[in-house]
Amino acid sequence: MQNQTPRLIHSQPNAKGWFGAYGGRFAPETLMGPLLDLEAAFYSALKSEEFKAELQQLLEEFVGRETPLTYASRLTSYCGGAKIYLKREDLTHTGAHKINNALGQILLARRMGKKRIIAETGAGQHGVATATVAARFGMECVIYMGKVDMERQAPNVQRMRLLGAKVVAVVAGTQTLKDAVSEAMRDWVTHVNESYYLLGSALGPHPYPTMVREFQKIIGEETRKQILQKEQRLPDELIACVGGGSNAIGFFYPFLDDPTVALTGVEAGGRSGQLGDHAARFSGGSLGVLQGTQTFILQDQVGQIATTHSVSAGLDYAAVGPEHAWLHDIHRANYTFVRDQEALEAFHLLARIEGIIPALESSHAIAYAIRRARELSPHQLLAVNLSGRGDKDLNTVLEEELKNGHR
Ligand SMILES: *Cc1c(COP(=O)(O)O)cnc(C)c1O
Repeated sequence: MQNQTPRLIHSQPNAKGWFGAYGGRFAPETLMGPLLDLEAAFYSALKSEEFKAELQQLLEEFVGRETPLTYASRLTSYCGGAKIYLKREDLTHTGAHKINNALGQILLARRMGKKRIIAETGAGQHGVATATVAARFGMECVIYMGKVDMERQAPNVQRMRLLGAKVVAVVAGTQTLKDAVSEAMRDWVTHVNESYYLLGSALGPHPYPTMVREFQKIIGEETRKQILQKEQRLPDELIACVGGGSNAIGFFYPFLDDPTVALTGVEAGGRSGQLGDHAARFSGGSLGVLQGTQTFILQDQVGQIATTHSVSAGLDYAAVGPEHAWLHDIHRANYTFVRDQEALEAFHLLARIEGIIPALESSHAIAYAIRRARELSPHQLLAVNLSGRGDKDLNTVLEEELKNGHR
């Protein structure tokens, strides 16, 4: 490996938004022009010193960056293997990494002269981040959310409304995230001149997967600098949970060209390996197109999108971001899964021995890190992205305990 010329993995995607066989721009004719405009505005913003300086200042003063890299000393002793570090996205304003992307995109929306923000949300975390930045910039904000999700995530609906957003209940299909995305796209087609569609993960038609990665890569950039300061070397392995893939790609990206750093994405293994019981796209999925992008998708034999299940709403989606599908193909990243029960155990363990209540999504990454640390030696380093805090999950955790017969 050492003698090979750099592979320059960073040069992806190609000009049309393809990461190998994944990605692209699958959209109705009326959205092709707006997507091209968005792409041009995005690349021009990336080159603007003024844009970058304003984003950096807001990341510091509004989001609270940089977030710490915390040495989890008691978790490390508990496992008895590799040293475990946690990247603390749970400490950002609104409590998860999603604000990094929402902030970057709303600055872009303002630069494009848009006054109205549209977004979809599943668990409500992206909706809350979007409503937050819309309030900060005085923009009209409409959030589409499945009716079933609105009932399950009532406190987030309340938060969005407090922040001045209009939350629209989607009653089509399974009344969950996939249907909310379709409805948000429909709104965009209808009000395309004045509206900006603020997508929440590394998904959708080009340029969204690349744009979301660019706004999330600060997670990995900070981690790289911090671990070099603390340990004078790079970690042996990075671990992150993968829903659509935004926190994981933001964490992994600055390390793609470092062959000694292993990259592991953890999907939701749900209740079982049966289709419908999980959201592990890399073990149960196949190639398809969903909501603008070609990637690994959970579907049945005739291409109907499968229902998915996870105890963590943020990992509960049938498709995975196209850049992850490509990293999987070229064996640069590995993907595994953790089931509901193991994630819940990691949730409780981290709370009790580190004093950190992680999001259920992040608990999947923690659970895998516990397994992995035990296989490695005390000289090795693991860095885990703690994508968010668990306050939002208290009801779910309580219900699961009741189901399992605990008090
Ligand atoms: C939304 C969410 C995720 C999953 O989304 P990605 O795009 O895969 O990062 C993970 N963790 C938290 C805390 C979330 O809110």
